[in-house]
Amino acid sequence: MKLEQTKFPYKIIPEHEKKYRFTTGELHKYRGHYYPLLVKPSADPSQDTAEVRQGHLVLHSSNPNNPVSNAAVLDEWYYNQAKALFAGMVAKAMLNAAPYVKGKMPRLRIKRMLDQWGACNPRTGLLILNLELIKVPDECTAFVAQHEVMHLKYPSHNNAFFAAMKSVMPDWVEREKILKTYYPV
Ligand SMILES: [Zn+2]
Repeated sequence: MKLEQTKFPYKIIPEHEKKYRFTTGELHKYRGHYYPLLVKPSADPSQDTAEVRQGHLVLHSSNPNNPVSNAAVLDEWYYNQAKALFAGMVAKAMLNAAPYVKGKMPRLRIKRMLDQWGACNPRTGLLILNLELIKVPDECTAFVAQHEVMHLKYPSHNNAFFAAMKSVMPDWVEREKILKTYYPV
C-alpha cells in the first residue's frame, strides 16, 4: 500500500485531543480522506444524517448551530457506516485466516476507545473495533480486523501469532505504520 503524502497536508493530532466545532468548512475525516464539512439545516430530527457529496461531508442537522447536536448527527452516521463496513472486513479476515482460525464468526462490537484500535476475547468470541477506524484508510481498518481475528487462535503476541499474521497479510507492518503515524488515537 503506497502512502500518498498529498492526502496528509495537515498537522497530525490524536483524534481524541481534537476540539471540533462542527461548522461549515471544518475538515473531518472519513475512510482516509479529509472532507470539508457543509452544515445544512434539516426540517426535523428524523431527517438528520450525513452524506459524502461532491467532495464535501454534508451534515443535515435540525439544530445546525449547536455543535453538540451536529456532533451527535455525525457520530450516528459514522457508526452506521462502520457497522456495514467493518462486518464485511471481519468476514474477509476470517476467510483469510481460515488455514489458522477455525470456528464460527466472532460477534462484532463497535465502540469508541481512547487507547486501542481493537480487542478480541478468544473465550467469548467477542471482537471489538474502535469506531475511530471509520476515519482511517480501509487498508488500515482491514489490518486491525485481521490482527484481532488472529487472536481467536493466538491470544498473545507470540512468534506463532506474527508468523500467521505475515502469511495472511504480508504487508501488515506497512499498514500499521500508516495507522500509527497518521491516525493516532
Ligand atoms: Zn493484539
